[in-house]
Amino acid sequence: MPLNEYRKKRRFDVTSEPSGKKLAPPPSKPKHKLAYVVQKHRATNLHYDLRLEWNGVLLSWAVPKGPSTDPSVKRLAMQVEDHPLDYASFEGTIPEGEYGGGTVMVWDDGTWEPESPDVNAALAKGDLKFILLGKKLRGSWVLVRTRGFGSSSKPSWLLIKHRDEYASTDDITVTKPKSVLSGRLLAQIAKDGGGDVAKAATGDPPKPAAAAAPAKPARKSAAKSSRAASARSSKPPARTRKSR
Ligand code: MN
Repeated sequence: MPLNEYRKKRRFDVTSEPSGKKLAPPPSKPKHKLAYVVQKHRATNLHYDLRLEWNGVLLSWAVPKGPSTDPSVKRLAMQVEDHPLDYASFEGTIPEGEYGGGTVMVWDDGTWEPESPDVNAALAKGDLKFILLGKKLRGSWVLVRTRGFGSSSKPSWLLIKHRDEYASTDDITVTKPKSVLSGRLLAQIAKDGGGDVAKAATGDPPKPAAAAAPAKPARKSAAKSSRAASARSSKPPARTRKSR
């Protein structure tokens, strides 16, 4: 599958995203592990880009709400243009005004294995079952193409977790918000890359410091709150964002 659409949308003298000019490794060598990545992308809107290596490119879906490990939750996944394989390790900023301008985090990565015996047929049919072997996402998943939404250029699919030992009702986008490459949040990636920090920060979870440090208590409840504070102080103090 050519990367024409991917390249057409980007100016590689301006953005630091890979051009995909490097040759892909020979496809489907025995034991060749297929790459998997989810990139959290604070562009015009926050979304998570799920990418699965297939036939020398990364098949790509934009998932606005991110993956859910809860099998009762179906997440919309809009298929977008194929990306080059070396995109899987791209983390940084895309200049504002460019295609996808904003901040990109490698939110999860690893490998994947098809469960559908014939991947090309499964993709054509719109029902791909697969195993994710990531650092955050594990176990069995399915992508099902839907009718009535999306367009021919951006067909819409649903990303759904199958029931297995990795299913959970915890919201993993909230409990595990950091980069698997660098441990950074979006705001830090934007800061390091000279991007829009305030915009990137809107994609990060609310700062816990805000909840742990309420406004100064009124004098008359000081005794009560100091008792509460000493009860809290058995736990190590919450670190400030700066120290991370
Ligand atoms: Mn994106």
